[in-house]
Amino acid sequence: MSRILVTGGAGFLGSHLCEALIEAGHEVIVMDNQVSGQTENLQDIFHHERFSYYEHDITEFIHVSGELDWVLHLASLASPVFYKQHPIKTLKVGALGTHKTLGLAKTKDASYLFTSTSEVYGDPEVNPQPEDYRGNVDPYGPRSCYDESKRYGESLIRAYRDEHDLDVRVARIFNTYGPRMRLDDGRVIPTFVKQALNGEELTVHGEGQQTRSFCYVSDLVEGLVALMESNVQTPINIGNPDERTILELAEKIIQVTDSSSGITHEPRPPQDPTVRRPDLTKAEAELDWEPTVSLETGLDRTIPYFERQLRRS
Ligand code: UDP
Repeated sequence: MSRILVTGGAGFLGSHLCEALIEAGHEVIVMDNQVSGQTENLQDIFHHERFSYYEHDITEFIHVSGELDWVLHLASLASPVFYKQHPIKTLKVGALGTHKTLGLAKTKDASYLFTSTSEVYGDPEVNPQPEDYRGNVDPYGPRSCYDESKRYGESLIRAYRDEHDLDVRVARIFNTYGPRMRLDDGRVIPTFVKQALNGEELTVHGEGQQTRSFCYVSDLVEGLVALMESNVQTPINIGNPDERTILELAEKIIQVTDSSSGITHEPRPPQDPTVRRPDLTKAEAELDWEPTVSLETGLDRTIPYFERQLRRS
């Protein structure tokens, strides 16, 4: 059994990972300041004897009593809508939050995992993106608060590894979806599903020819656990390589929800990446992991959650 701190554990991805870690027999301590996370996501494990929860802003000093085997730093404002509302918090959690959690890991002699992002590749000029692609990021652009905070986070982790020999993992996570994404998250799958279920027009940005590759959350969690179990100290892509256009996604969601909604086109946000798809060669070779849940199956598992949320709202 390991004793594991998870920052951002009340978030969409964090809560699924915490459940998997509890299930695997570990002790889990969550810290979250609930800017985007919601404790309701943790309701199935909240009272578990191996689970504890602290409301804390991890950009401030972090105190944890006792030993820690792992620090998993997931806290982040990962939705473009949220990070554009809170650009300073976004930069702080990637920079100061990464610094504080690294310092904690060093003190506790714990291993460290950081959830970085495909956004470190910016608006990529190569597709799919391998880990050695250096990216096309505008440091003063509208997405820079997110992209640059994660790039800085990776750099800081590299420094702690080099200077303090910290045992580190860096997962570059591509678009992920599933139950517990917030309906007001603004990202494309919750937005389209909500619109389709409400019979509203689906708001496709631009012509919808931009692409994304969507990974179902259980695959992502398995990838992160495989990364923890590995010895890969360098960044590694985790996602699903099944690349779709946004227009295709809109049509698919209308079809699977049996909706009468149409599609409307809105302006594309500035510097919205045109393509995105993970090159998983490294993950498949070094983690012996690959995603197995198709977009169709993943949507089938996700839509009932949004239906319940809509009924409650
Ligand atoms: N998008 C869209 N309509 C929406 C929300 C998003 O067409 O109502 C597009 C967005 O412009 C982008 C893609 O869907 O091209 C994925 O956006 P999302 O916010 O989910 O995440 P991103 O991959 O950009 O971080």
